[in-house]
Amino acid sequence: MTDTSSAVADKIRCDACPVMCYIKPGAAGACDRYANHQGELVRVDPHIILERTVSHGGRLVPFQASGDWDGKIVHGPSTFVTAIGAGTTYPDYKPAPFIVASEVDGVDMVTVVTEGIFSYCGVKVKIDTDRYLGPETAIVRSDGEAVGHVTTSEYGSQMLSLGGVHHLTGGSKKEGRVTCDTLMDLSNGKAVELAIDGGASVVVQAGRAPIVNGVREERMRVGCGSATIGMFAKQWRGKVDEVVVVDDHITGVLSEHQAGKLLDIPDTGIKMKGRRSTPGRYFQVAEPGTGWGGTNISDPLDILGPFDPKTARPGLSMLMVSTTGEHAGYYRLDEGLRPVEAEMPDALKQSVERIQENCEPALCTVLFMAGAGGSLRAGVTENPVRLTRSVKDALTRVTSGGAPVYVWPGGGITYMVDVTQMPANAFGYVPTPALVAPIEFTLKLSDYAALGGHMDYVRPLSSLKDTAEILPWPAKAPIAGQGG
Ligand code: SF4
Repeated sequence: MTDTSSAVADKIRCDACPVMCYIKPGAAGACDRYANHQGELVRVDPHIILERTVSHGGRLVPFQASGDWDGKIVHGPSTFVTAIGAGTTYPDYKPAPFIVASEVDGVDMVTVVTEGIFSYCGVKVKIDTDRYLGPETAIVRSDGEAVGHVTTSEYGSQMLSLGGVHHLTGGSKKEGRVTCDTLMDLSNGKAVELAIDGGASVVVQAGRAPIVNGVREERMRVGCGSATIGMFAKQWRGKVDEVVVVDDHITGVLSEHQAGKLLDIPDTGIKMKGRRSTPGRYFQVAEPGTGWGGTNISDPLDILGPFDPKTARPGLSMLMVSTTGEHAGYYRLDEGLRPVEAEMPDALKQSVERIQENCEPALCTVLFMAGAGGSLRAGVTENPVRLTRSVKDALTRVTSGGAPVYVWPGGGITYMVDVTQMPANAFGYVPTPALVAPIEFTLKLSDYAALGGHMDYVRPLSSLKDTAEILPWPAKAPIAGQGG
């Protein structure tokens, strides 16, 4: 039960967010988080408390203010009150729903929990694939609506930036609703199909392999083409005359590469298309695409010019391979110095398998990012900037559903959290539209008093245990389709 309501006839008015729903008996509000149960406004989902057991070990880093760390990985409170299912107070000057005292290693601590309503939030998505998803800055769509854009690639991964206040509030009503749904589904570990303007369609699910244009990605590249040459050059010496590692970014050529030079691999007269960066490293050998090494080619010979007759010789052998080892071909030069595909010798097959073996499984990573620097802080303290300072000074630890977060340097409390580290269905929404995400602030009780905390609302942990659902800690969101 919560007191964030007022009754009109038999309806109850929920005031947990700016929508201020009137809720009939037996019905739920617009966000499905609150309902009218026999005249009382109730939070529908259970409040989650995490409890550490020996068998579950520990993953959270020690809390810096809780005394000297003894070096053990398992450290800190054995019970943690999350904000999941805790509810929200609105407007924010009201104290957070639960301000809970506990003792950790003899130190009195307090955890302030609330389900934050975030209009300024989004997800950063890392997709481990070489396949071209679309040009940087291209619009990413869900259900036809713009929900974000492609941002700069990382090593072996392509990145999307989705959500944000402009898509949530700055476009049409449908754009805001679809953006909110997309963020919530991705954050709750569900699969979402995204279409990129001028690029691919990709199914993204946190902790799962991406599916690009209907093809499930298997592997993340071992490195760029140049790095692959550096890693495997020794294993190729004496087994093949030339190796080309095809890569949309940096294609590597063994005989010209510094690794080949150090191993005294002779010139082969190979001629590459594209732009030479440094010896044995070529940019732009083809257009980006979903073929070999993230290029648009299906025949790797397309990136070669004619071999130089002054250096090349008939019978010269060449391995062409992609950065994941997914594509590979073996060639010999004929009398006209043209490469002709041939059966790959076993030793080279093994080297291709070694490239594959060194690739990690391709996954999608979803980091939820939000700014808690606004009025949410007032639910924690009457002097909100002190909370920000306390976080920056590492006196207050911020978590989201019990999971560790990264707090950005600079102003405000802008944090990121890996959604797979959180319990299932930790995220909700309100139709303003905005995401609802759990956030917890844990600090020493004495520090809480010093920063102007709502001391009158501090309650003991034991007052929650009868009503909350207790889950093992550390929690991890189950991946849909894998049970549990
Ligand atoms: S949307 Fe949900 S939180 Fe907001 S007023 Fe309606 S029931 Fe309450």
